[in-house]
Amino acid sequence: MLRVTVWNENKHEQEYEGIRKVYPKGIHGCIAEFLGKEEGFTVHTATFFEPEHGLTEEVLQNTDVLILWSHALQEEFSDEVAERVRRHVLSGMGLVALHSAHYSKIMKKLLGTTMSLKWRHGDREKLWCILPTHPIAAGVPEMIELPEEEMYGEFFDIPKPDDVIFTGWFSGGEVFRSGCTFTRGLGKIFYFQPGHEEYPIYYHPDIQKIITNGVRFCTPVLERKLPDCVEC
Ligand code: ZN
Repeated sequence: MLRVTVWNENKHEQEYEGIRKVYPKGIHGCIAEFLGKEEGFTVHTATFFEPEHGLTEEVLQNTDVLILWSHALQEEFSDEVAERVRRHVLSGMGLVALHSAHYSKIMKKLLGTTMSLKWRHGDREKLWCILPTHPIAAGVPEMIELPEEEMYGEFFDIPKPDDVIFTGWFSGGEVFRSGCTFTRGLGKIFYFQPGHEEYPIYYHPDIQKIITNGVRFCTPVLERKLPDCVEC
């Protein structure tokens, strides 16, 4: 079985009725629901407000791929838990970071850059697949229209990705490396931009396909073990 943990901050859904209407079960609930239909997946959810943010040593040891959605509580996220997640990624756990999770402590620690970008509220996006031979692009159309999405634009301060699979285009003319992969230690990381909380992005079947493919791609291929140079 492929063990997936879907982690969501779950703050906006509790605070704003409009967002709760879009995601009545939370962003984590929506993602867990479609992933749970995949054969061979066992899906667990965790949120910020649980003890240790629901990401205890035991949970991480039993996670093959962690999905991460965060936004408003990036600074409040525990340094200790972020370090724990980083260690698990280095030892082979896969990580799929969605939308504003680019700015999480976990992603900043793993990638080592500022992760800053341009953004503008209330835009639309054409998401182009620019690497159709990549496993994450399997069964995905060459272009996905998202009639409502937040603009994320370059320059996006990330280290050079292993692959850029998707490029987003926005109505102001901005472009963005919207789907990128990285390797850190033995862990594979997929960053995927779509998913602003006010819009029903994670119900879109092609977006669901990309996230599912991302989970499969980030699945560990080796036995989990810290690289020798890393201190536990
Ligand atoms: Zn957003």
